[in-house]
Formats: sequence, C-alpha cells, structure tokens
Amino acid sequence: MNAGVIAVQGDVAEHAAAIRRAAAAHDEPVEVVEIRDSGVVPDCDVLLMPGGESTTISRLIHREGIAAEIRDHVAAGKPVLATCAGLIVCSRDAKDDRVDALGVLDVSVDRNAFGRQKDSFEAKVPVEGLEEPFHAVFIRAPAIDDVGSGVEVLASVDGRPVTVRDGPVVATSFHPELTDDSRIHDLAFFPDTEVLA
Ligand code: GLN
Repeated sequence: MNAGVIAVQGDVAEHAAAIRRAAAAHDEPVEVVEIRDSGVVPDCDVLLMPGGESTTISRLIHREGIAAEIRDHVAAGKPVLATCAGLIVCSRDAKDDRVDALGVLDVSVDRNAFGRQKDSFEAKVPVEGLEEPFHAVFIRAPAIDDVGSGVEVLASVDGRPVTVRDGPVVATSFHPELTDDSRIHDLAFFPDTEVLA
C-alpha cells in the first residue's frame, strides 16, 4: 500500500506513524510518503489529511497544485482519512474565505465550534462499527453542522456529528493519530479485514 500524508503543514509525523501502526496490525506492507509537491498523489492508494491549521493547509495545497490531485483521488474512489483541519479542508463549506474547501466531503463545518472552555478535551465516543468507544482527543475541533444526504454519521458529541463517511472519505473532528488506537484507520482503510492478534 502506498500511503500519502499531505505534509504542507500540521501533525504529519503522527499521521505517518499511525498509518504504519494500522498497516502492521493487518500485516499489510506500507510505503509512507510525505506530500509537499504535486505529482505524488496519483501514485498513492490512500491519503491522510492531518490536523493543523486549515487556512494554511488550504492555501498551500492550492498553491502547490495538490488540491486538484486530491479531488481526482476521491473521484477515483480511493480512500482518504481526514482529521480536524483535514476535515475542514475536505468539506464543501468551511464558512471562512481563507479556506478554499475541496468539496470532497458533503458537509459544512463551523471551525473552532466546540467553545472556549472546551477548546481541547477528551471523550470516550461511541463510533458506529466499533465495539468499544473510541478515546477521542479534540483540539480546537470543528463541528459539522450540515450533512448531505449521502453522508453517514458514525459518531456525534452533544448532538453534533464528529465522525462521518462520504463514499471513500472518512473524517473525524478529533485526532485518532494521537492515540495508539488504530480502529478509525481500520474503518477508513481496512474495512473488511481482521486485526491480527
Ligand atoms: N482549529 C483548526 C482549524 O480551524 C483545526 C485544529 C486542529 O486541526 N487540531 O484549522
């Protein structure tokens, strides 16, 4: 598996480590490549869109010509896991002129919507398809406030969706790459295979 981490800004190293862990648990050889230029995405089987600052990530992927390649990747039905700022960048509307959203995920979002006292928090979140709740780390997390008809909501907090699936794109408001738990990566990239003991 060729896994590309969009690496223009954000928690790139954590994502690279997380996909390596997830692939190892499935005995799947993985080549992880950090993407800062155009021309690399077309060789990737799966993509990871890290958390960070969505305004910066958006500006750089458009400037470097990576944005159109991500759209083509999704149009070809190839998997993407987008977390936090990555979710914002993938959305159809981030309600912020500085984010030229890719529209590969049919949701609109409120950036930093989880309120000042909850700027960062952790919660055990039940996720559709997972037997046990997921220990979710939220850092200035976006809330999803509108979901298109083709989008599956897999988890919510306070009635607001925080994990969604839209075709090949799985997105979370929280940061699964910051824990050792690979089950969100499994949902995105290994939906039909067992974790090896
Ligand atoms: N608040 C950030 C943004 O709007 C996202 C935070 C994160 O990715 N942890 O881009």
